[in-house]
Amino acid sequence: GNLTVQELADRLGVESSEIIKSLFFKGIIATVTQTLDLHTIETVSEEFGVPVLQDDIEAAAKKTVEMIEESDMAHLIRRPPVVTVMGHVDHGKTSLLDAIRKTRVAAGEAGGITQHIGAYQVDVPHGDEHRKITFLDTPGHEAFTAMRARGTKVTDVAVLVVAADDGVRPQTLEAISHARAAEVPIVVAINKIDKEGAQPDRVKQELSGLDLVAEDWGGNTVMVPVSAIKGENIDKLLEMILLVTEVEDLQANPDRMARGTVIEAHLDKAKGPVATLLIQNGTLKAGDVLAAGPILGKVRAMVDDTGKRVKQAGPSSAVEALGFSEVPTAGDEFEVYTDEKSARAVVGDRATEARATRLAQQMASRRVSLASMSGQASEGELKELNLILKADVQGSVEAILGSLEQLPQEEVQVRVLLSAPGEITETDVDLAAASGAVIVGFNTSMASGAKRAADATGVDVRDYDVIYKLLEDIQMAMEGLLEPEL
Ligand code: GDP
Repeated sequence: GNLTVQELADRLGVESSEIIKSLFFKGIIATVTQTLDLHTIETVSEEFGVPVLQDDIEAAAKKTVEMIEESDMAHLIRRPPVVTVMGHVDHGKTSLLDAIRKTRVAAGEAGGITQHIGAYQVDVPHGDEHRKITFLDTPGHEAFTAMRARGTKVTDVAVLVVAADDGVRPQTLEAISHARAAEVPIVVAINKIDKEGAQPDRVKQELSGLDLVAEDWGGNTVMVPVSAIKGENIDKLLEMILLVTEVEDLQANPDRMARGTVIEAHLDKAKGPVATLLIQNGTLKAGDVLAAGPILGKVRAMVDDTGKRVKQAGPSSAVEALGFSEVPTAGDEFEVYTDEKSARAVVGDRATEARATRLAQQMASRRVSLASMSGQASEGELKELNLILKADVQGSVEAILGSLEQLPQEEVQVRVLLSAPGEITETDVDLAAASGAVIVGFNTSMASGAKRAADATGVDVRDYDVIYKLLEDIQMAMEGLLEPEL
């Protein structure tokens, strides 16, 4: 069924102004009570990384960019799985990633535990051979969400960390729904089993209520009890990850030009733009010309996760690369081109697109104030007066909305983008800036950060403690009679 903006915001667990803002950038000006069609609901939900509908999940899966092409078929070899670690805060994600990283010192690899590039690889004994696993070392699942929102599927397995002394918590649920939306299999690490109050069975119980049933309970979800701190059962977890991915038949063609995803990027004062690239197909070589989203680059130097300079990097490995013209965006895809000319052509198109979007945003954020709107009204140029209304209580909100409706609106229409009880927040200011609205507060205050944001964006925030005065100013502005404030 259809939902209003407010209902959708409630389901997604975000502020309604966030939804309105997102709609605004899609060219839809909406109010909180507006009903949205199915397609819009899906698009917005996907953007916030929360699947609300089955269709949404399917759409996300379909959008997944195919990294393997027809021409690769004859050259495919097995590639290592790429793994993300997710879970509730403090359940031990960082500790687990550290514990896993340490196993390669045990495996005899020299010195390689220092470099933090956003991803690392470990060697795991598997039968008579060694297999590699790539771990994304980016904290939380934000990166995961951002990449999925762009349609990039980077991970093959999600390790869900649940603390045995705490059980399933809100972010556990969130992680599960993210992994499911991306159609990524889940391996559960029941962590902190060394602790006094650890109850691994209670965790299994709770998870089975979420359709994650442990194998020893007759289900098919792999669950490994571990202690990240004591390093207990880490090898078992790694083995299980390999087992789960074995059936996925992960392959890539090392004999082609690389493509993949930007995992992390930042500007280094000395080195310039630095980006960690996850190679998903092909082999990346020093000197390669590439485009990452709208950013052009020529790989000047590459460093692997042990800090070693490397000349090339194959499928499922991650390297930190230098040589971009600007800092690329994490989550964007990159691809190598035969020469600078063809890379430039691709980037040129993307840059034009990006510029158009930026321009539209700038146009939208042209500074408005009630006084400048009044000026436009007196010239007969103002058609709509966009408002965001925040008041002390719901009763005031309704009273003010009721009175606003009574104002004559033949010449100029009042459009209330958002009305809610509560403080004026930074998000409200962002929305006002993006949509050319003024913020009207009644018996309320500004949240920390909101004032700074208003100053920075030039958003007009007016506060009132008398409804009559508020209405009078709005009416004067609509009639073009409001004098600029001093
Ligand atoms: P994150 O927020 O999920 O990354 O969690 P952290 O890795 O930062 O761990 C949160 C806290 O739990 C830290 O104080 C860790 O020392 C502790 N912790 C993590 N794993 C274990 C474990 O296996 N056993 C015990 N006793 N404590 C752990």
